[in-house]
Amino acid sequence: MESLKPRFLLTENLGRLAKWLRLLGYDTVIYKSISYHNMVRLALKDSRIILTRSKKDADFKRRFSRRLIVSDKHLDQLEEIKDLLQLNNDKIFTRCLICNRILYDISKNKIQDFVPEFVWERHSKFKLCRKCGKIYWQGTHYKDMLNKLKKIFCEVEES
Ligand SMILES: [Zn+2]
Repeated sequence: MESLKPRFLLTENLGRLAKWLRLLGYDTVIYKSISYHNMVRLALKDSRIILTRSKKDADFKRRFSRRLIVSDKHLDQLEEIKDLLQLNNDKIFTRCLICNRILYDISKNKIQDFVPEFVWERHSKFKLCRKCGKIYWQGTHYKDMLNKLKKIFCEVEES
């Protein structure tokens, strides 16, 4: 499966935005404390766009792709970079929100002991992150996130 472009590198205080970018399917890494030099080096290595809240980082003269994120609300932040993104149904929900790895389908029978009983009974499709072991299913939390994405990416608003 071809991965979505662009890839992102996020700096301080953008943890929630990172989760939403991963939910959309974007390869997104985040570094809490990283030197300017390393940030640029890592971004260039993987052709990542840097998203930062630091005006200082955003203003540096050196050539690399970056955006200054102004808002401190994660959904508004997503709105700010909407022009870089797309809502692609084949890509949503394909990446671990915690560690950015691609998720794998896992048979329902293998995970009965690892999810709450009511979840297991109600859902048929599950995905697993092989790095952190987190199991995902399309429950109410997922639907809630999806609705918020639709509000941002689909222009038509329901009244
Ligand atoms: Zn994971």
